[in-house]
Amino acid sequence: MRITVYGAANDVTGSCHLVETESGLSPAGTKTGCRFLIDCGMFQGSEKLERLNYIPKGIKPNSLDAVVLTHGHLDHCGRLPLLAAQGYKGPIYCTEPTARIAQLVMTDSAKIQEEDTERENRKRAEEHLPPLEPLYGVDAVEKACKLFKPMPYGHELNIAEGITIKLVEAGHILGSACVEIVSSSNGTRREFVFSGDIGQWNVPILQDPAEIKDNVQLVFMESTYGERNHRDLSNTLEEFRALLRQAVAQKGKVLIPTFAVGRAQTILFYLAEAFRNKVIDPIPIYLDSPMAIAATEIYNKFVSFMDDESTQLQSSGELQQDLQTLKLCTTVEESKALNQVDGPCVIMAGSGMCNAGRILHHFQHNLSSPENIVMIVGYQPKGSLGRSMVDGAKMVKIMRETVPVRATVRGLGGFSAHAGQQDLLKWLEHMAPSKPRVVLVHGESHAMDELAYLIKDKFGIVAEKPHLGDVLTV
Ligand code: ZN
Repeated sequence: MRITVYGAANDVTGSCHLVETESGLSPAGTKTGCRFLIDCGMFQGSEKLERLNYIPKGIKPNSLDAVVLTHGHLDHCGRLPLLAAQGYKGPIYCTEPTARIAQLVMTDSAKIQEEDTERENRKRAEEHLPPLEPLYGVDAVEKACKLFKPMPYGHELNIAEGITIKLVEAGHILGSACVEIVSSSNGTRREFVFSGDIGQWNVPILQDPAEIKDNVQLVFMESTYGERNHRDLSNTLEEFRALLRQAVAQKGKVLIPTFAVGRAQTILFYLAEAFRNKVIDPIPIYLDSPMAIAATEIYNKFVSFMDDESTQLQSSGELQQDLQTLKLCTTVEESKALNQVDGPCVIMAGSGMCNAGRILHHFQHNLSSPENIVMIVGYQPKGSLGRSMVDGAKMVKIMRETVPVRATVRGLGGFSAHAGQQDLLKWLEHMAPSKPRVVLVHGESHAMDELAYLIKDKFGIVAEKPHLGDVLTV
């Protein structure tokens, strides 16, 4: 078997691995061996990375037998429309929530690309330069979505002669999966695991990552937070509740920049809990993000994928009861109308990284008032607006306007959808006794180095850190 790394190598985006098993004819004359992809994600971040957003020649879309998608984040599904546009017509296996979330995420990405290209082309036209094409449009997304073949967790599916796949819970976002692959040939059985993104244990809504215990020979595992642990969730929640009380006392607005898939639903869960437990009396919550509204609808549709507590809260109607003050803002007018709303209230808007979207307008209007509170609940890259605010900037530039920061700004670090260092080791622990070959992906080099050190120390396994384009032979 050969595995080629086509993304997320010494980096956290562009997840894509090509698996090729030996081809030939079995004694019975049937074709053996197959070629399939695990994820086909988009590179995000720097321009240099984004230039990698194409389908490498080695993938040969027409000769692929299958694609397995671990979850619906863009860095795992974002190149699927390119694959479909270049002739791939086979199945894309994933869970049902993943199919729906991926459709939402890819459609949003296509629209942004079309808008960005249109804007760029207006400039280019002035300079008499030929127009550019977007990476892909909504039509390519539709093509890809037709190929989704949802399958439940735990179901063993034969995708080619001697190759079965099984999806198990990854606990990262709704429907997220780790992929177990079993290859059997000439009486030898080998098992491989691709982690996808691994979540944290004991978080609301999601089930815990599954324990994979089988006799595994090879593990590809993510290492996003390989270098550190997250802040303790109970401390984070204590601060969350204290800030809500402060907002009520000051009649302030709580602004929460929110990732649409996963984080928005988690924060709604904690707000409902705060109202239910009488931390504060219910105050208006404005979910000012069409994308987060759509993602929440998907979450509500797939209650059976949630943990027991959330299933119970959803099925009994208790959660909706707790969230009676939730208002959904779909249109731009509804969003603008929030400028006239008095506190206390909560406004959740995108983008989660504060680099675009409606949250910037709310910042412009509300940062200069000391009664308001900004809760940063997601990762903010170095040099970003969100990071500079958490670091205590007194003045910030938002859409060419300088705005004084008089509001309280707090970074609440415990809400990550990714496993921290200890949880990554915990995930690997069950497989470690059989001393599998461990390959670290989906992490920056320093995070992988730290995790590799601990894996060696704890399990005596020397983890590999492949580069983009590397081929691993098993
Ligand atoms: Zn993810």
